[in-house]
Formats: sequence, C-alpha cells, structure tokens
Amino acid sequence: ADLLTPEEFPEEIPDANLLRPRTFDHYVGQKDVIDSLKVAIQAALLREDTLDHILLHGPPGLGKTTLAALVARAMGVSFLASSGPALEKGGDLVGILTRLAPGTLLFIDEIHRLPRPVEEILYSAMEDFSIDVVFDRGAAARTFRHRIPPFTLVGATTRAGLLSAPLRDRFGIQRDLDFYQPPELARILERSAGILGIGIDPEGSLEIGRRSRGTPRIANRLLKRVRDFSQVNGHSVISRDVAQRALRMEGIDDRGLNRIDRRFIETIRVVYNGGPVGIEAMAATLQMDPDTLIDVVEPYLLKEGYLARTPAGRRLTASGWEIATEG
Ligand code: ADP
Repeated sequence: ADLLTPEEFPEEIPDANLLRPRTFDHYVGQKDVIDSLKVAIQAALLREDTLDHILLHGPPGLGKTTLAALVARAMGVSFLASSGPALEKGGDLVGILTRLAPGTLLFIDEIHRLPRPVEEILYSAMEDFSIDVVFDRGAAARTFRHRIPPFTLVGATTRAGLLSAPLRDRFGIQRDLDFYQPPELARILERSAGILGIGIDPEGSLEIGRRSRGTPRIANRLLKRVRDFSQVNGHSVISRDVAQRALRMEGIDDRGLNRIDRRFIETIRVVYNGGPVGIEAMAATLQMDPDTLIDVVEPYLLKEGYLARTPAGRRLTASGWEIATEG
C-alpha cells in the first residue's frame, strides 16, 4: 500500500475497518473465487485439517485482505497479517512462524516483495511445517530441522509474474480477483452508506459505482467525497446528479477515468505518438514510479480496452486514441 503515493490513490480511509465485510454474505461479487474457497474450507473442517495455502492475485483494493480475514473467521482460526516489505530479515519471519498459534492464517501482502532469503524460509515452512536452523559456520556448520505449528499461508500479490516458481508452486489454491461491475459496487456503496448514515438513492450509488475503476476501496473513498459535496450543497440524499457533479469536481470523468488515467493516455498519444512505448519511458515522462503504473494505473486501462500490451511496449487502442484526442 505504501506504493500508492499519488494523490489520486490515498489508501486508507478512517472508517476502512468499519466498512470491511465480516461475513461472506457481505462480501459482494467474486463468485467463482468464493465458491471454490468455501468448498476448500468445508473440506478442511471435515478433515479437521489445516487449509491449503492460498495465493490471491489482483490489483490493490479489490478485497484480498478482506477475503483472507473472512477465510480465517470461517475456519475459526486466528488471523495474523504482515507484508513482503515488512519482513526484511529471515529472523523476522522465523520469529513469527515459531510463535504461531496452531492453525493460524498468516496473511502476507505484497508477497512478491519478500527478500529472497526470507522467501526461502517459507519453502519448508509451507511444505512440511518446519524450518532449517543453521549452527556454526563453514566446515562446522550443521543444520537442525525445527518443527513449527501448522498454519495456512495466504499470499496476496498484484504481480503473480514476479513470484518465483518454487514459491508459487507451494500454493495449493491460486485465484485471481476481478474488477467489480458497477451494480456490484453499487451494492457495496449502499451497505457503506447505511453504516455511515449517508442518504443515497439507487441511481446515486450506481453512478459512483460506474466511476470507481471497478474497485471497492475507491468506491468507498469516493462515497465520502460525494457526501461532503452533498452536505455542503444542502442535499439530504445523494442522487445521480449530485454524484456526477461531485465526481467531476474530483477530476473523474464520465467514463470513470481519473486525472492520472487521462494523463497516461494523453502522454502516449502526444509524446509517443500512440506507442508502442516501454513502461520505464512512460514512468520517466510522467515522473511516476513504474510499479505504481504497472500495479495501479495500467490494469484498469487494459481491462477497459483503452490500452494494449505488445512485445514492443504499450500502445493505445482505437478507443484509447479516441479519448486522447477528445482533449
Ligand atoms: P486489497 O487487500 O485487495 O488491497 P482490501 O481487502 O483491503 O483490498 O479491500 C479494500 C476495501 O474495500 C475493504 O476495506 C472493504 O471495505 C472493501 N471491499 C473489498 N472487497 C469487497 C467486497 N467484495 N465486498 C464489499 N466490500 C469490499
């Protein structure tokens, strides 16, 4: 989450925990993923076994952390969260693994950013709940196998391609989360509005849903911006019209693209004549972090068909070109 510095993507919102679904019934969408996880959970409970390790892949804000916490709750085990960048040294991870309550669901966000030596500790930990401890150095070095409590690892990543094969292969369950459809986001927004005591009509929530880049975290954040706007302007209920005016002020256009999206598209057209252009060149021109472009900006533009990835780089599609020339 610390990758997402640009102002368009402020990450945590004060009520984030309040809005996080606590049961599968409140977790909207991702039906295929939920169905298969429920089967795996039931089977593990029947066998009184730990659940297989799970890898969740998808852009930020689609509900990976939320889902991991729901799985822990359904299994009746404790939930512990860490992240790739936070586990700097092998000792950090060993400290966690050796102290786990049996059956714990350990969630590691941004698992593709685990340093290699730390990652290697996970191999035997995941495979047979053991870690190798090395005593002495050089010729006198001996290793000692240390048992650790059984646990389930849930790894989340925005970039499955950056995971090493030995790590990836140790996840028995691997699932991709998809962007959400506007009606799904509208349902999430209606629930959030209820919790926060915000008046909104169905068209208002659909309008915010349409402009949230398919992402629940963005939808919840925009809801608050629209609430501010409607209060200041004396509306008691957020209607479609109120939502449209508020979001335009936030720099979000009728297609749901934000300022960075449009700058990205326009830069390809103006500076690179529509592409193909490499991501490093784009990052330099936009003065942005290439990882942010790859993890946050591009996935939605690709999904909406404004952008295409080719071996030579990124290029605008016909509809991307159309937007870029609208001005
Ligand atoms: P990720 O871990 O993928 O970055 P999170 O799990 O932190 O995403 O989700 C961000 C926020 O979006 C959550 O706090 C939650 O309020 C909301 N959210 C995500 N997925 C869903 C969903 N399927 N249904 C309802 N709300 C969701």
